[in-house]
Amino acid sequence: MIWGRKASRAAAGLGLLVICSAGGTASGSDPALPSPPVVSPAAGLPSPAAPSASPGGLTASSPGDLATPPAPATPGPSAEPVTAGPVGASPRPGEVGRVRARAGEAVPVVSSIPTARKVVFLTIDDGWEQDPGFVRLVRERAVPITVFATRDAVEARGVPDPGAAGGRYVGAGKWSYFRELRDLGVPIEAHTLTHPNLWNLGSAAQREEICGSAKVVAREVGRGPVLFRPPFGNYTGTTLRVAKACGLRAVLLWTATVQPGGKISYQAPDKRLHPGDILLLHFRAHLARDFRVLLDKIERRGFELGNLPAYLREAGVRLPAPSSGVRADQPVG
Ligand SMILES: [Zn+2]
Repeated sequence: MIWGRKASRAAAGLGLLVICSAGGTASGSDPALPSPPVVSPAAGLPSPAAPSASPGGLTASSPGDLATPPAPATPGPSAEPVTAGPVGASPRPGEVGRVRARAGEAVPVVSSIPTARKVVFLTIDDGWEQDPGFVRLVRERAVPITVFATRDAVEARGVPDPGAAGGRYVGAGKWSYFRELRDLGVPIEAHTLTHPNLWNLGSAAQREEICGSAKVVAREVGRGPVLFRPPFGNYTGTTLRVAKACGLRAVLLWTATVQPGGKISYQAPDKRLHPGDILLLHFRAHLARDFRVLLDKIERRGFELGNLPAYLREAGVRLPAPSSGVRADQPVG
């Protein structure tokens, strides 16, 4: 994929961007690219997420011995309205092109979803800042998101993410925060234990990071991950083989990052949103505020928010089928 960053290319000195930071060692500052010109406003806002047969949560996927019974979720305030899950837009028949692993690669590497529909996908990484206001926002606006959790970020171990400096909720909820998101239908996927640069790790160390994080998520969230995102977007052929061996079905990259303030930094040369774009955010201070800005921006540009698992499945990525619908602990809405 064009945005994939394999080690074999790194040696060529391509000056690659390092975007997804949590460890605080190799990230540097995110590039602050200029805002794109505002495109002509859409005639109307996208319709709200339609009911779907494909809930956002992939609840039937615990891989074998990684599975443990779901840990009890932290009870939420019972007075709040609860939705059946943030499902987002589902693919229409024939809408989505195929995604395949390239020759010699063990699993597909996905940077964007092949579709002409004005739909984009939101992914949120790491997990340092755990603002309860963000969970309320996801619930109230039924926003489809996919989370890639790093153990050390979720558990606030080691060196704090400099991007979260000044945050009020660093490590506040630990895994219970992600169980709350799970209960809203949010898939919690794997993003390593310690957020290393996988270019620097051999097979055994990569296995520890990747399989280890899948096990932690399965234990803490009660559902084994099916997707993997390499820190900084850096992976090798070994990464893909290890991911497959750990039960992960695809490696997910991204096409644009969302900076503090809701500003979108594009990798595409025209600096615009494109159908099928996968956006990367981080659990950082002021996420709820920035997220509102972002959602409004996406709507103004006439894009819908898509259900990533449903689109991946339609694209041919071999994700487990969704379970009978809504989790047993969720009301049917
Ligand atoms: Zn990360």
